[in-house]
Amino acid sequence: MDFGLQGRWALVCAASKGLGKGCAKALVGEGVNVVITARGAAALEATAAELRALNPAVQVRTVAGDITSAEGRAAALAACPQVDILVNNAGGPPPGDFRDWTRDDWIKAVDANMLTPIELIKAVVDGMAERGFGRIVNITSGAVKAPIDVLGLSNGARSGLTGFIAGLSRQVRVASRNVTINNLLPGVFDTDRVRSMAAATSKKTGQSVDEIVAARAAVPPARRLGNSDEFGATCAFLCSVHAGYITGQNMLIDGGNYPGTF
Ligand code: NAD
Repeated sequence: MDFGLQGRWALVCAASKGLGKGCAKALVGEGVNVVITARGAAALEATAAELRALNPAVQVRTVAGDITSAEGRAAALAACPQVDILVNNAGGPPPGDFRDWTRDDWIKAVDANMLTPIELIKAVVDGMAERGFGRIVNITSGAVKAPIDVLGLSNGARSGLTGFIAGLSRQVRVASRNVTINNLLPGVFDTDRVRSMAAATSKKTGQSVDEIVAARAAVPPARRLGNSDEFGATCAFLCSVHAGYITGQNMLIDGGNYPGTF
């Protein structure tokens, strides 16, 4: 299937590793020029080299910086000649007990996982509507649908984003102009984040990281972790010309972990 995206420009945030990188790979494979961002320049450049090797016909630009800062967002937007596709992503908040969290902890989580995507959308959505094409995909979490108690910061901040997107995606001036906005909700994926959270648990419990990861992989009916390439493929489909009638949706990618019918 031709996704009809050749020559488009995408801004893929937080994309040197993990799920963001999976999205960038799938888009580059479809002939999309990309601007990728991440905080660390070394991993970002390594990923850019991988993307260029994957498809030498596309342009791959890098912006090292913190996407949760105004300067980071401005630099990312300035590097992209025209944002046809926006993939919102940033690091997730740490786990913990809400009794220990300060107002600053909350502000940081809301900034990263709610206000940063909203600010980026604000910068690009009207231009997309004017041009008659736009695809926005927000990487959120399965925790929006089935909250995870130790991830209260994530449950809260991402649910705020989800509520906002539900309204914005249905604005006629957005939806009638072939601009779609959807959220992808990962279950447990085999990325650095999952391994670093397992390492933190390992320190507390004495179990090995591999044992902890294997125990998590055994939970979903698929009996494995997701991988970032399959996550990226779903993102690329949502960005494709074929997905123009899918908007305002929250798509779980979790190996069947969520137990509900809807
Ligand atoms: P990861 O740690 O593997 O990769 C994160 C990427 O984001 C890296 O490229 C890093 O450099 C970049 N990054 C982090 N903070 C940034 C910032 N402030 N500015 C710019 N770049 C930044 O993480 P991942 O597993 O791919 O997770 C991506 C998102 O999805 C996170 O918000 C995470 O909480 C969420 N999520 C992941 C899973 C999972 O199983 N992996 C499940 C649910 C939700």
